[in-house]
Amino acid sequence: MQGVERSGAEGPAELVLRGGTVLALDAADTRGTAIAVRHGRVLAVGDEARVAPLIGRRTRVVDLEGRAVIPGINDSHLHAAWLGAMWPDTVFGAMEAGAGAEVPSGGHGGPTAEAAPFEASAAAADPHVPAGPRLVDDEAGRRRAILRAGELIASLGITSYTEPGLGPGEDDGATGCFGQAVLETYRTLESERALRARVNVLALFGVLDGPSELRAFLAGLRGLDRQTERPAWLRVAGVKIFADGIPPMLQAWTAHAYPDGSHGDLLVGGGDLGQRAANLAEMIRAVHRQGLQLGVHATGDRTIDQVVDAVEAAAAEAPADLRHYVIHGDLVTPGALERMRGLGMGLNVQAGIAAKTAPWVAGVLGEEVAAAAWPIGRAIEAGVRVSLSSDAPVLAPDWRQGMADADAWMGAAAPADAERRMLQLLHAYTVVPAHQDGAEGWKGTLAPRMAADLCVLEANPLELAPAELPDVAVDLTVVDGDVVFER
Ligand SMILES: [Zn+2]
Repeated sequence: MQGVERSGAEGPAELVLRGGTVLALDAADTRGTAIAVRHGRVLAVGDEARVAPLIGRRTRVVDLEGRAVIPGINDSHLHAAWLGAMWPDTVFGAMEAGAGAEVPSGGHGGPTAEAAPFEASAAAADPHVPAGPRLVDDEAGRRRAILRAGELIASLGITSYTEPGLGPGEDDGATGCFGQAVLETYRTLESERALRARVNVLALFGVLDGPSELRAFLAGLRGLDRQTERPAWLRVAGVKIFADGIPPMLQAWTAHAYPDGSHGDLLVGGGDLGQRAANLAEMIRAVHRQGLQLGVHATGDRTIDQVVDAVEAAAAEAPADLRHYVIHGDLVTPGALERMRGLGMGLNVQAGIAAKTAPWVAGVLGEEVAAAAWPIGRAIEAGVRVSLSSDAPVLAPDWRQGMADADAWMGAAAPADAERRMLQLLHAYTVVPAHQDGAEGWKGTLAPRMAADLCVLEANPLELAPAELPDVAVDLTVVDGDVVFER
């Protein structure tokens, strides 16, 4: 990142990839057959003639032989420490493996044949609370988990991710994967230059998938230390709030009625729902006033409306481009999407969770509500920035599957044109999350001078249907100009 270019003197590249397809995914949709990299930056994208003069004696030249280069994948919601501690298990994998699985599999003791189907399945689908012994207990365990996740995601072409929720409320948590110490471990690993991907962190002042209290939240916010050595590699972006639970657990706050006549609730503490809503708004206001980004786990339509109201009020008081976003957004309404677009709010969503849990939503709120849930295509059409992510280890951190799932989920709501459809999916894992990170000026595309974060795919995605992506191998991953994975 420290490359200082003397004007007119290009000098030799350190790495050249040629003889394939390069998709820059920039605004001009630049495509080439070759790319040159130097000092951690893209030097040029073009044809053979463009990169030939940049090849020197010490340039590594990779013949793509028809393979494709795309910007590195940015999984914008991925619990890497938890993933590294659990892998190859995932929350859904454990659930689907059947009853009595001993792997961590969600609250309520994990799925068993006896458990009520919604409760067991839903607990596995979202809450991040495993049964059994602590997954990670000490510094060595935290290091191992983060590094293991780093290796895994490098092998998948992921070059950036957001670790969504680390903080003191989880210091005694059941997993050991979300406490304040995990952020310290990240700081240490970064200072050792041991991270394999760029990491954004959302601080957490409450319990993951659990309650938070206004006083503790405000105190935590005041004491938040955002200092990191190299923010391009490790950045404390903002704050995560768990506003509500999820619909299948009857926890999402919604205008629709659950079978027992209830409407769900908020996770934020307060004497009654009105007070809880006011406290949530106060938390959001405080985050905004401090100039921090806000990522809110919000699934119910009423919860989302409350979040949008609070962001609107905070933005009216102190206009700022902070890129707040709703995470999951299960029951977001067209009206809320329209307001989110106007406020510059994003939507961070996991199509695989939508596909797996929609039947449970139908079970508690009816088919019609389920059919309108997770309106990914509609959100994009409305102009909302939609970033796709895995929520790993809830799902496996495989963006290829994520794109296939998103495409299937959107169905007719995605563009009819196959190339536009694929580009939209690629953007949702590169360009859009770079914007979420406030980093669209230097990462997420392969235009000249952008960060040399890229991956090489066995085949050109623009010549494939999304459903074929999961079978396409990732051959090479480069972060900051350095090869971090090679098949
Ligand atoms: Zn999550």
